[in-house]
Amino acid sequence: MDFELTPEQQALQDLIRDFARRSIAPVARELEQSGRYPDEIVDEMKAMGLFGMLVPEAYGGIGLDAVSYSLVFEELSKAWMGIAGVLGTHSMACRIVAINGTEEQKRRWLPEMASGAVRSGLALTEPSAGSDLQSITTTARRDGDHYVVNGAKTWITNARRARVLPVLVKTDESAQPRHRGMSLLLIESGTPGFSVGNDIPKLGYRGPESSEIFFVDCKVAVDNLIGASEGQGLQQALGALEFGRCNIAGRAVGVAQAALDLALSYARERRAFGHPIADFQAIQLKLAAVATEVQAARLLTRWAAAKLDSGQRADLETGMAKFFASEVALRATLESMRIHGGYGYSAELEVERLYRDAPLMAIGEGTNEILQTVIAKLLLAT
Ligand SMILES: Cc1cc2nc3c(=O)[nH]c(=O)nc-3n(C[C@H](O)[C@H](O)[C@H](O)COP(=O)(O)OP(=O)(O)OC[C@H]3O[C@@H](n4cnc5c(N)ncnc54)[C@H](O)[C@@H]3O)c2cc1C
Repeated sequence: MDFELTPEQQALQDLIRDFARRSIAPVARELEQSGRYPDEIVDEMKAMGLFGMLVPEAYGGIGLDAVSYSLVFEELSKAWMGIAGVLGTHSMACRIVAINGTEEQKRRWLPEMASGAVRSGLALTEPSAGSDLQSITTTARRDGDHYVVNGAKTWITNARRARVLPVLVKTDESAQPRHRGMSLLLIESGTPGFSVGNDIPKLGYRGPESSEIFFVDCKVAVDNLIGASEGQGLQQALGALEFGRCNIAGRAVGVAQAALDLALSYARERRAFGHPIADFQAIQLKLAAVATEVQAARLLTRWAAAKLDSGQRADLETGMAKFFASEVALRATLESMRIHGGYGYSAELEVERLYRDAPLMAIGEGTNEILQTVIAKLLLAT
């Protein structure tokens, strides 16, 4: 396959790289440390159309292919991975509605989601069920022309600013297999019985909030069921996660590349025993290993995204890309920190933030343990 970017993809990469250097990198540390929400950056991303990356042009979006989509996340994450989180689950919600929604739902929601006027996220995880989504206990019981929703979700990124959220619920608790009783409901902020609880204090990924949400006898119109029938929710969510793994893999490549770039420049500047530390073979071995892994992760991500763009299922490829790239990000940020010596441990330097941001990519959108079991099952099934 061809790993070269098309002229359009190259132009998009240049555009996002320039935006990230100009508007994100200079303010990332201050925003991250103060906890102030990055409103100015969000406004620029709205103006650039980035909230509509996965909204088809017919509904006001820019309908990016998967390779371009992963490039955007790579470039943003070189500057600050937290900003990528503002767009990540919002984009997945757009895709869920675009692929599975009724025509009325698409017309109602997608244009404003594309402009960023309506923000979204994705509410799957519960306090007692993350990887094992079939064990969720949030219920939606039908009562005439609406559902009555009860339950709680946790770790829901962008929840506080979301105007509408796809929420995974059980519409039939007795269904077997259990996924046949699971559906996605679009639940709007301000609906009585729906509340956003605490924002969870986090190690990193501090741009967007990740919050608890609660439903107490929350009445949701039947028209807000995504798609034509109940029982499709888990497949709809998993389909979006397959695409979303290009986002996580792209973010991981961006964080790893940023860690490598910092390590290279520090190794040239820092002197010990009368030499730049770059002269020491111990440092060179780390730089060579990290650079090789980062490029491998990038190519694996492009390969997985290209498979998705060909219209085929790509669970194996996106799983491999997300798994490998996120492990590379963990190793690259640790090695970069070690190359920085004591300074790498200081909150004054960017490498410390990269190190705190990296683990999320090994956890979110399918933990790497789960993804390895998926990869193995697919290999064994062939
Ligand atoms: C910063 C952040 C943001 C998030 N944002 C969102 C969001 O917007 N929306 C949302 O719905 N969720 C979100 N999540 C939740 C995330 O998707 C879950 O944390 C993740 O799916 C894992 O679920 P869990 O935390 O319940 O861990 P568990 O499922 O309890 O897993 C615990 C450990 O057991 C392992 N494990 C579990 N089952 C198996 C198995 N069968 N085989 C091997 N190992 C296994 C896991 O890999 C993990 O190591 C977010 C999480 C974080 C940290």
